Amino acid sequence: MTQAVVLAQDLTAAGFVALGAAIAYHWYRDRGRAQAKLALALISLALVAALGRLPSSPLLSVVVIVAFMLSGYFVLMFRNEFIPLRRTLYRAANVLLGVSILAGILDVTLLQRANPILVTLLGLVLITAWAIFTGEPIVRFWLASNGVPAVQRARMRFLSLGFAVLIAILFVDVLGGSRLQSPTAIIVTQVLALAVVPIIYVSLAPPSLLRRIWRMSEENALRDAMQDLLIHSPSREALADRAAFWAVRLFGATAGFVVDPDGKVIAASGIGRDQATRLAANPGQSGAIVRAPLHLTEGQGWLCVIAGDFTPVFGTEEVSQLRAYANSVSAGLQRVGVTERVAGIEKNKTQFLNLASHELRGPVTVMRGYVSMLQGGLLGQLNERGRQAAGVMAAKVSEMNELIEEMIEAARLEEGALTLRTADADLRQIASSAADAVTPLLDSRHRLVLDLPDRRVRVKVDADRTKTIIANLLSNAIKYSPEGGVITCQVRSRAGVARVAVTDEGLGIPRDGLPTLFTRFGRVITPETQHLQGTGLGLFLGRQLARMHGGDITVATIEGKGSTFTLQLPAGPPPNGASDGAAQAPKNRIGPDAVKR
Ligand code: ADP
Repeated sequence: MTQAVVLAQDLTAAGFVALGAAIAYHWYRDRGRAQAKLALALISLALVAALGRLPSSPLLSVVVIVAFMLSGYFVLMFRNEFIPLRRTLYRAANVLLGVSILAGILDVTLLQRANPILVTLLGLVLITAWAIFTGEPIVRFWLASNGVPAVQRARMRFLSLGFAVLIAILFVDVLGGSRLQSPTAIIVTQVLALAVVPIIYVSLAPPSLLRRIWRMSEENALRDAMQDLLIHSPSREALADRAAFWAVRLFGATAGFVVDPDGKVIAASGIGRDQATRLAANPGQSGAIVRAPLHLTEGQGWLCVIAGDFTPVFGTEEVSQLRAYANSVSAGLQRVGVTERVAGIEKNKTQFLNLASHELRGPVTVMRGYVSMLQGGLLGQLNERGRQAAGVMAAKVSEMNELIEEMIEAARLEEGALTLRTADADLRQIASSAADAVTPLLDSRHRLVLDLPDRRVRVKVDADRTKTIIANLLSNAIKYSPEGGVITCQVRSRAGVARVAVTDEGLGIPRDGLPTLFTRFGRVITPETQHLQGTGLGLFLGRQLARMHGGDITVATIEGKGSTFTLQLPAGPPPNGASDGAAQAPKNRIGPDAVKR
């Protein structure tokens, strides 16, 4: 049994010596002031453990007592590095150190441990002083750990826990006296003391696996934050604000701010902008500022955090991660910058569209008036060539007019000023009048077939705009079938959806052109279509209007063979409670009355 006791005591001593050596090595690498204090505390503790294994002598006992008291004192000094002690407390701590060392020396030299009660009392004085030195900081670390990121929190708590166990062991040991001198009791206390070694070690240099485990709880929040930061931030300012906020959270800092390349603070969290601006201008003022560069097209900006009291020791890895984080923030800022610029250009386009279309409207109306007066003979009789010219002018003016109407409609849509005037209507009638409207565009090579069901197709729509959508699909079908062919306009209603499908046998659309079809000004230019005129507004407007009605426009096309554009709209209930028109209508009836040439 005694062998086991000796082994336990040797192991514990070796554990503390190893801990002292490890922290000394870490301090040698980092050379931080605060780390130095903690290193001294743990090296002193290692000394106590090591010397305690040597044969006892009064001199050795004095050294052990001094080392022991210093180990506690340096824990307090370690805390003093973060949050300075008040002067009086600092002095009191020094006095307490002196008194307790003196009492210990008295005990082992003059009194030579004469009276067991006195020995216990002096022992209590020493341990109480040590407990005060270490107890105050560990309570403070524990309390402060609540507001910091998970890894820092765990590290601070482990340090507190390690010292708390040591305090408990020391008190039990001294108060228990001879009752705790049994081999089992000694082994238990030694094992407990040994357990403190890894606890304190991981608080100082946690292995990456542990960091990962500690961080797990925060990982989802972090991922969401990154996504929020990089994808959803609507503007540069908003992104910078979020970046500063998350930098503070991620690093357990007290404040953070973002500085753009010309030195302007564009976001601040936990600090006023004025103060941030002063610090940005002179970062050397506060040693606690950690800066990471932001690489932006306009130059180099900075993401700065003002380290929290405990960040330099417990957030070392996080501080080095600030750079990686800053790179993501740079990418986000670049993206938002580009998006903002594009939005600006789009806005200009809309404004131009609006202005140009309204300015053109007046002159075109006047021209229309004169052309129709010319055609009607109100300005004198025209000869044959004059009549032909007036006809061409009328067609071109009406083309121009349509174009202007499209531009005005697109501008309205962009500004959110477009409202629908919906009413019950029969989609067959709307499709028919759209077909009538495009009849002048047909030439002898085209045949337009209207395929309508017998029953009414009830829809609640803005009839004028629905007619415009269908007319545009039909005129496209004609325009993009330069070789002619059959163009079918089929109206159907099924399962609550009314459809108008416009099919042509024309050029079709190449696959890579499909994504641009429905975009504003989106045209698919191929050698076959490049000479055809258009604005690229028709399908854009058509789809937007269809969607405003709760419907859509879809396309099926084969390059070189033709296309089918389908307008879908929510269908109203079928008349007289009958089932949908399409279910009863004679299928694909293409009556001679519905054929247009
Ligand atoms: P545009 O004024 O150019 O006709 P649209 O928005 O109506 O504008 O159409 C966008 C583009 O879609 C057209 O430029 C054309 O390339 C293609 N497109 C539209 N309808 C057809 C069709 N029926 N067949 C082939 N291509 C079409």
